[in-house]
Amino acid sequence: MSTPPAYRGRLAPSPTGYLHTGHARTFWIASERARRAGGTLLLRSDDLDSTRFRMDFAQALLEDLRWFGLAWSEGPDIGGPHAPYSQSERRGLYRAALERLRDLRWVYPCARTRRDVVEAAGAPHEGGADDEPLYPAAFRPDPSLDLPDIDGAPGVNWRLRVPDGEELVFEDARLGTQRAVAGRDFGDFPVWRKDGGPSYQLACAVDDAEMGITEVVRGEDLVRSTFRQLLLYRALGVRPPGFYHCALVTDEGGVRLAKRHDALSLRALRERGVSPQEIRAAWPPEGP
Ligand code: GLU
Repeated sequence: MSTPPAYRGRLAPSPTGYLHTGHARTFWIASERARRAGGTLLLRSDDLDSTRFRMDFAQALLEDLRWFGLAWSEGPDIGGPHAPYSQSERRGLYRAALERLRDLRWVYPCARTRRDVVEAAGAPHEGGADDEPLYPAAFRPDPSLDLPDIDGAPGVNWRLRVPDGEELVFEDARLGTQRAVAGRDFGDFPVWRKDGGPSYQLACAVDDAEMGITEVVRGEDLVRSTFRQLLLYRALGVRPPGFYHCALVTDEGGVRLAKRHDALSLRALRERGVSPQEIRAAWPPEGP
């Protein structure tokens, strides 16, 4: 019998603002799960969003996470066997994955604008923060058409063709069995954007696979993204990690903390003299 690989988890913050207590809670749970499993935890900076990314946020988040009591054994600040740990420095890997997806005919170029898709999709689609309108199957090119080279099709998005009608299933370590139907709950989604960079879905799946992550811990607003990423794992021929989706914390008014960057940032709390222990004591208990 082969022994399962040792637990490897990750913290994957986006340096687009100061971290708030909702992020800290997700990262704390990720860190506790790695610790209890006797595993390792790495930190990856998801800094691909060049319009919102700021270097000072990238520095601040490392500092804030350390102050909060989190530790990692690989990361942009300390290196490690899977360096670099900042997505902006890993573009070659994403490009290679796109080439592979193209060669295997999982993807196609798409010149439609977001507006075209929104208009054709009609009513807004229910879903989490990651959600996007359902891509109409009528927009798809004929699968037998020749695909251009990637460099021969500038200024287009590349989308993954989802297997329509197939039910995808995964076992979430907190939420239990999760199901979604491709083509109904989510449609063809971008893996590469017309500005020449990978989508979150592609970068995340490529990195989690390359970094040997065995369990992804993140907010439950990303459950639908997990289905998309499962298709990417399949297309790229790699074994997917396990998943644990945490509850999202809301304030007294029911507003998700992720939407509030003000008073609940770790920085602001720290300046007011609040300790990490007090922040943790205010969280609801984690459970299904
Ligand atoms: N950087 C992403 C975020 O902050 C990470 C999502 C993930 O953990 O996959 O939302």
